[in-house]
Amino acid sequence: MGKTTGFMEFDRKDEAYAPVKERIKNYKEFTLPLKESELRNQGARCMDCGIPFCHSGCPLGNLIPDFNDAVYRGKWEKATKILHSTNNFPEFTGRLCPAPCEESCVLGINEDPVSIENIEKNIVETAFKNGWIQPEPPSKRTGKKVVVVGSGPAGLAAAQQLNRAGHSVTVLERDEKIGGLLRYGIPDFKMEKHIIDRRLEVMEQEGIVFKTGVHVGVDLKADDLKKDYDAIVLCGGATVRRQLPIPGADLKGVVQAMDFLPQNNRKVDGIPYEGEELTAEGKKVIVIGGGDTGSDCIGTSIRQGAISVNNFEIMPKATPQRPKDQPWPFWPMRLRTSSSHKEGADRVFSISTKKFIGDEKGNLKGLVTAEVFWEKVPGQRPVLKEVEGTEKEWECDLALLALGFTGSETTIAEQLGLEMDARTNIHATAKDYKTNVPGVYVAGDQRRGQSLIVWAISEGRQAAHHVDAYLMGTSNLPLKGEGDLPRI
Ligand SMILES: Cc1cc2nc3c(=O)[nH]c(=O)nc-3n(C[C@H](O)[C@H](O)[C@H](O)COP(=O)(O)OP(=O)(O)OC[C@H]3O[C@@H](n4cnc5c(N)ncnc54)[C@H](O)[C@@H]3O)c2cc1C
Ligand code: SF4
Repeated sequence: MGKTTGFMEFDRKDEAYAPVKERIKNYKEFTLPLKESELRNQGARCMDCGIPFCHSGCPLGNLIPDFNDAVYRGKWEKATKILHSTNNFPEFTGRLCPAPCEESCVLGINEDPVSIENIEKNIVETAFKNGWIQPEPPSKRTGKKVVVVGSGPAGLAAAQQLNRAGHSVTVLERDEKIGGLLRYGIPDFKMEKHIIDRRLEVMEQEGIVFKTGVHVGVDLKADDLKKDYDAIVLCGGATVRRQLPIPGADLKGVVQAMDFLPQNNRKVDGIPYEGEELTAEGKKVIVIGGGDTGSDCIGTSIRQGAISVNNFEIMPKATPQRPKDQPWPFWPMRLRTSSSHKEGADRVFSISTKKFIGDEKGNLKGLVTAEVFWEKVPGQRPVLKEVEGTEKEWECDLALLALGFTGSETTIAEQLGLEMDARTNIHATAKDYKTNVPGVYVAGDQRRGQSLIVWAISEGRQAAHHVDAYLMGTSNLPLKGEGDLPRI
């Protein structure tokens, strides 16, 4: 254990943000790193509490007390090895993870939890700076060929693990660049895209082949993959967007978030995009949906020059504190305020949009809402009810629909004869990630439905273990919680 009294001596200290006025001028990341001495103090706050609940809070089973201790002692290279033994891409999770580990940190019972996510980011950034992230090609090849369809965090994690096991891995991606939602969903101000590129360089040097612009199911039939590869790992994400089927939904100015955000990321990258330009510049914007995607629409609209941004959420406003019925160490539904929310959006809770209003040319000019509440009937799911007499009209010339995703596309599943589950994801259990067709596996959002990067990496790693075992009869690839503690 690090400093026995660290948690009593040091308060939690988080990275600061550049002032709003400055950061909204561009799409760059805007966090201001702590000094090394401050980071070591943050590592010293870890109590090494005996039963590290953070291990199970983290879907990767990251060995958190061990890397905290290494950071406290200034042993950054050791911390890098510990961290990478369970997480292929801490530079993604260290920036973007909602950190369920921190909600289950023992110190968090009555104090601020250890700033685990920030420590993670600084370990991997220190490692890249010092050249410690080097390609790890396998010492010998097995002669087996594996194809991974989709290059989001699940596909990348599966590809790296399977390549390390000695298989020849090809990743097929329909977009023009690799990365999935890391590249074309999440805005640059949350993660600049060179962060993905530097990791891809390492993976290419390890021998993984990436092919972009290949739409499996369209450009080539999914069942043809069976002829060329010994195993198929599907990591295509949950890409079917939830619609808002209300009057006026076809007006010009009612836009899906996942048309708006990818187009902006392409603009920032200086690459061409399809269709007409979607911009919030000079517009009164309403973002419908209060999750991560909604928050990203707010930050992007503000940077594009929106006049105003309102954010609607159908659920009631939660409290910033952990609710009593969601005790530690569980993930609580509490009010979360993102950096984008703080950039000038008005958040409205318990509100439902009833119709969009257009002008004579078919352009959106407003929308009508009502206040809502959830009626609870014991033994049944809560029912959404409107509060009578609360209809309100809002001026709006850009409505961004950030309502989430309803599941996976079905083309590949149809071509391969795969079973879907009740929530239109490709069916496989987390026991072995196997579909009903031998040699075909599925991981990430395409299996579990819309989720998180940390879960996608975790599923990619787990699936890789089972694919390796299918190909070789047994596997040495680690499962969750089988990280390695180096003796350096
Ligand atoms: C706007 C937005 C913001 C988010 N912010 C966060 C956040 O801050 N933190 C967090 O933890 N999570 C966040 N998420 C969720 C997170 O991005 C996803 O859970 C995660 O990316 C899922 O990874 P995946 O690899 O399963 O799929 P994806 O990242 O969706 O990647 C799937 C890839 O497969 C490709 N593909 C699909 N079908 C085919 C095909 N037939 N042929 C070839 N390629 C195909 C797609 O083009 C895509 O590149 C966010 C999601 C969105 C939409
Ligand atoms: S990946 Fe997420 S949950 Fe796991 S240690 Fe990092 S911040 Fe915590």
